[in-house]
Amino acid sequence: MAKKACLAEFGIIQRFFARKTITNSSTRLGIGDDCALLAIPDGYELAVTTDTMVENVHFFAGTDPEQLGHKLLAVNLSDLASMGAKPISVMLALTMPNVNEVWLTAFARGFLTLAERYGVDLIGGDTTSGALTLTVQAMGLIPRGQALLRSTAMPGDFIYLSGNLGDAGLGLKITQGYYCAYPDLALNRFNMPIPRIETGQALVNVARTCIDLSDGLASDLGHILEQSQVGASINWEDLPLSDAVRNYIEITGDWLMPLLAGDDYELCFTVSPENAAKVPVSCSKIGVIEANSGLRLIKSGTIQLLKVKGYEHFS
Ligand code: ADP
Ligand code: MG
Repeated sequence: MAKKACLAEFGIIQRFFARKTITNSSTRLGIGDDCALLAIPDGYELAVTTDTMVENVHFFAGTDPEQLGHKLLAVNLSDLASMGAKPISVMLALTMPNVNEVWLTAFARGFLTLAERYGVDLIGGDTTSGALTLTVQAMGLIPRGQALLRSTAMPGDFIYLSGNLGDAGLGLKITQGYYCAYPDLALNRFNMPIPRIETGQALVNVARTCIDLSDGLASDLGHILEQSQVGASINWEDLPLSDAVRNYIEITGDWLMPLLAGDDYELCFTVSPENAAKVPVSCSKIGVIEANSGLRLIKSGTIQLLKVKGYEHFS
């Protein structure tokens, strides 16, 4: 029984996930042995992160497997981006109820297409049977001591976003039945987020802190504020919102959505005023770090205190 399971497991890896080519110069040994081997160049540190996606918790049953493969990798690469790291390799732990070849083919296509785009090797993993649960561990390189942390914001720092807020949140609403005349952009941002890898690396030696927006601006900026023991004010008028999100707010009155919804995977970072001129022009300045704790939103001339809680498991 155990042997049969093993053969099936090995066959799945060979057929769907093993690539003959190793593209990243850090990969000394990829899939096939008990461990993979990585070379870390002198003067660099290894940034390591892992994220799990569970069916019916992080994604709906029946989600397009190609988009799922993309998103699973994207959310992990986004964590590397937020530290300023250059991704080199990933591991994939796959737990699934049965072997569905159509599903696996599409899932692997979504996953490996994104990996190849960034020269990231899939160097190993694990394959087991059980409820559909997808885990990736991602590794990246960062020049020693240069990683962008959450804990180093200073009063007076400007706060920036790498792109629009709330498009993924709108995509989720559309998935749940909200009617939108032009749904494609929002759905695409929800299903196929783009990890801001180039922006993250461009922020090394420019930004003082950085985080990626997985749980929503209020929650994720809240992590920077808590860990740096500072507060912030952000300006509603400065938030970068797409026409579709503006339209959604006009119709529903739900202006909190872009502040609370997750899944945008944009970078939120703080920069000292001296470095502001070095921030990529595609980024939007939305507020300022202050000594006073708490997250304040300035909207139509009034100041509102935002709660900084996002989605928490087990709560
Ligand atoms: P072990 O029993 O030593 O853990 P496995 O049979 O689990 O070995 O895995 C064999 C090889 O295949 C290892 O190199 C492992 O990293 C790799 N591997 C297993 N599952 C996956 C997967 N889903 N994606 C990529 N590589 C995998
Ligand atoms: Mg194993």
